[in-house]
Amino acid sequence: MTQQKFLIVGAGVAGITLAKHLIDAGHHITLVDSGNNRSSAVAAGLINPMVFRRMTKSWRLDEFSPFAIDFYTNWEQACNTQFYHPITIRRMFSSEQERGYWLKKQSNPDYQDYLTEVNEEDETYSLAKNDFGTGRVKRSSFISPKEFLAKGKEWIEQNNTVRQEQVDYSVIDPESGTYKGVNYDGIVFCEGVEIRHNPWFNHVPINPTKGETLTIESSSITETESLNRKCFILPIGDGKFRVGATYVWETYEDELTEEGKNDLIEKIQVLTDEPFEVIGHHAGIRPTMLDRRPILGRHPDYPSLYVYNGLGTKGYMLAPLLSKEMADFILHETEVDKEVSLGRFSK
Ligand SMILES: Cc1cc2nc3c(=O)[nH]c(=O)nc-3n(C[C@H](O)[C@H](O)[C@H](O)COP(=O)(O)OP(=O)(O)OC[C@H]3O[C@@H](n4cnc5c(N)ncnc54)[C@H](O)[C@@H]3O)c2cc1C
Repeated sequence: MTQQKFLIVGAGVAGITLAKHLIDAGHHITLVDSGNNRSSAVAAGLINPMVFRRMTKSWRLDEFSPFAIDFYTNWEQACNTQFYHPITIRRMFSSEQERGYWLKKQSNPDYQDYLTEVNEEDETYSLAKNDFGTGRVKRSSFISPKEFLAKGKEWIEQNNTVRQEQVDYSVIDPESGTYKGVNYDGIVFCEGVEIRHNPWFNHVPINPTKGETLTIESSSITETESLNRKCFILPIGDGKFRVGATYVWETYEDELTEEGKNDLIEKIQVLTDEPFEVIGHHAGIRPTMLDRRPILGRHPDYPSLYVYNGLGTKGYMLAPLLSKEMADFILHETEVDKEVSLGRFSK
């Protein structure tokens, strides 16, 4: 096999997991990032198998979930660290109707790997406010984004190149795949919402979704499960919890707002009366596509240029397998599923 050279622009969860697959396949990666991450580093990193709003399994869950668990656990071992944390999500029902939906789904064999029965212990749960009972979601987890991004880059850097720099598009020759005098077998853009500035892929209809989260500290919330109703309260250790998230569509502004903070504080108070202190406030922009599906593809006129984006609200669950599909597409020209293909947005 001849070793190929790839340039990956963007070291969020998309770029880093893609780099891992291409390196595992024996190729050389140059990974560049401007150092201004607005999504992967801000994310809570929660891997929730369910879409609670619709009480359905997440898209392609039965493929994404086991792949992600294997991928993260194997990689953290190789990095000699821990960034993958299994956790149970406890959904607090907001109404009898919601409890009814849960019971119906839970008795469906397709959901039994993910939803627990609502039992007596769930009914009498003491800490949080609990008017209509609760149920648990299995096979949930969270990634510690900072640890993952830092250790992932360190692992890549051992035998490959990682650089902090803003890629200037005018320096790229799209015909030959050359950047700063180096000719690459492919240049893959994993730029999150910055895709809007990319002269070759800015026609992709991105629908950016701003999100704010809080970090709180509380000595009386002693939860080891992630509580969920209107918001999530995710225990991250040492009496600290990540709380999120807000959703504001169609904006590229990622400033912290009092409105976002107060909204989350009110939502925490729907779940618990226990006292807490806000010790962190974060904001970012999710790279969401108009049709809510990721985007994988190659430029129709410049075959050296690729795009991989649109991981939306669940990037940490989708990225491991989607990056494998992207790597297979780049290396073996395996067909990309129509649902995620660049071809669905013709220029
Ligand atoms: C508040 C919030 C909470 C979230 N919570 C979760 C969650 O709990 N679970 C979950 O799975 N997902 C969550 N997400 C979504 C998740 O963060 C995204 O799906 C994922 O991070 C997208 O990753 P990405 O690599 O595509 O983009 P990004 O993380 O945005 O990475 C793109 C990178 O490209 C770089 N870049 C762009 N242009 C250039 C250039 N020209 N030159 C050099 N570098 C460039 C940027 O600096 C950036 O680092 C959340 C997002 C937000 C905002």
